[in-house]
Amino acid sequence: MTITTFLASVILALTLALPVAAQEASPLADRIDARATEIDDQVITWRRDIHQHPELGNREFRTAALVADHLRSLGLEVRTDVAHTGVVGLLRGGQPGPVVALRADMDALPVTEMVDVPFASKVRTQYNGREVGVMHACGHDNHVAILMGVADILASMREDLPGSVKFIFQPAEEGAPAGEEGGADLMLAEGAFENPKPEVVFGLHVGTRPVGTIWYRPNGTMASSDGLRIVVRGRQTHGAVPWGGVDPIVVASQIILGLQTIASRQLDVTATASIITIGSIHGGVRGNIIPDEVVMTGTIRTFDSEIRKDIHRRVRHTAEHIAESAGATAVVRIAYGYPVTFNDPALTEQMAPTLKRVAGPDKVFLSPPITGAEDFSYFAQEVPGLYIFLGVTPEDQDPATAPRNHSPLFFADESALNVGVRVLANLAVDYMAQH
Ligand SMILES: [Zn+2]
Ligand SMILES: [Zn+2]
Repeated sequence: MTITTFLASVILALTLALPVAAQEASPLADRIDARATEIDDQVITWRRDIHQHPELGNREFRTAALVADHLRSLGLEVRTDVAHTGVVGLLRGGQPGPVVALRADMDALPVTEMVDVPFASKVRTQYNGREVGVMHACGHDNHVAILMGVADILASMREDLPGSVKFIFQPAEEGAPAGEEGGADLMLAEGAFENPKPEVVFGLHVGTRPVGTIWYRPNGTMASSDGLRIVVRGRQTHGAVPWGGVDPIVVASQIILGLQTIASRQLDVTATASIITIGSIHGGVRGNIIPDEVVMTGTIRTFDSEIRKDIHRRVRHTAEHIAESAGATAVVRIAYGYPVTFNDPALTEQMAPTLKRVAGPDKVFLSPPITGAEDFSYFAQEVPGLYIFLGVTPEDQDPATAPRNHSPLFFADESALNVGVRVLANLAVDYMAQH
């Protein structure tokens, strides 16, 4: 390399570096930090109150009222009863700019709390005809308190806000009760993203990672989750005379093994992960009768919407043709669950510096793909989205063995709340400042 080309490349590098320099903290960042510290105790109080009064999906009446009252007290335009108990608040900034959506889910789970804290839940209720304990075992109490804090902070700087913020408090992320609809897709159907439509959406979930750390991943970050049901029909016969009928138990066994070759033999395993699980199989009543029918149910997980469609096609093809080869039939039903939670790669790249600046450069990590599913995915299908994970495992615990989300022992270290509040507030403000 000559000196001239060296200098040219330095100049080029400096030019290329400019957009990064433009991603430095917005003038509002210091004010966000200061206000976040001021409201730290308030956010913790909200979180404990919500934790102590958990409500199941589509029944978040108290939580929604708490949220709506708070948003109204800040002067936001508030819509309630969206998708049953959802709350949408709009904060119009004083400066022109884009609309950014921030989302928190509000529902708890039918889990009996076993954590020994003064604000542990003692709530019991009816669920699917049984009495159950109710607990914020997935940590959504943290999400609600964090987003209430963010609303406070951004409302305090409304005149200087270069754009508007839509606060989405969503019911029933864990699924609606049997026979009901609910969650993100119903909120969208009821206009949560209309008047005005946001340009981007951000959200976070707490989990068992070191407290205060942030984890993110571009592209497919959480899996799609589809239900699978296969009915294999043969023809009943004596167990000693299999040639007198068609044995659906042997056919079902072949189908189970055939399905396992889709991910391992037919798809490019280096491109993306996928899972096909058969979790239940039922057929027959006694050992010497080959039955008419076997029913299997399972789940399909993928990280790419095209591969999701491809796997559905291959599952049908494999089951139907294996059955046909034995003179049986297989009827495959795939029930669409949550889509892939897809982090827009350009948005993720654009916002990563904000995550590092706010949480600390040594506290931000690339997340592995997570095979659980999340209905934030519906919002991120409508507009570019970024969904991140916030560690809440106390420093003296090993995140690898700490009780996970949905455990009756799931515990969140509240010092993470401040990080969550500042991260979401800064994501909103930095996005606005950059557009
Ligand atoms: Zn959950
Ligand atoms: Zn959750």
